[in-house]
Amino acid sequence: MKIEASKVASFHYIVSDARGPVESSHDRGEPLAFLIGSGGLIPGLEKALMGRERGERFEVTVEPAEAYGERRENFTQRVPKKYFQQPEKLRPGMTTVLSVSGGGRRQVTVLKIGSSVIDVDLNHPLAGRTLKFDVEIVDVRDATPEEIAHGHAHGVGGHGH
Ligand code: ZN
Repeated sequence: MKIEASKVASFHYIVSDARGPVESSHDRGEPLAFLIGSGGLIPGLEKALMGRERGERFEVTVEPAEAYGERRENFTQRVPKKYFQQPEKLRPGMTTVLSVSGGGRRQVTVLKIGSSVIDVDLNHPLAGRTLKFDVEIVDVRDATPEEIAHGHAHGVGGHGH
């Protein structure tokens, strides 16, 4: 079975930038599972997965435009503390996830902490970086109707409700 839209692909990956490894699914102990075509994957990686099958291994280099975008200068915002999950645990330089208007979630980097507000950099921590993915496809299967309705994969490596 080949990877295409409405399939669930499970894969292990190691992502590196020019400075070395950044993140690996092996640290989590289980592969990531994605519903292909749902917009959950960066475009450059999804394109590279298309048409591949279980057991394939490959490397792909993804430019910022096809990954997390270019880094924007002065892309900062002052946000009231109440919008953070555990503001008392944050320190400058840490990354955290912020819910944004429209229902999305954005990974941000803490710049400065005030008494009632926190200044954050809205650039994704990997914005502006060319990334190399080392991928091993573990499984490819049809998505269930429920997964298609939800827009994400369930089960091991997928969305746990
Ligand atoms: Zn779901």
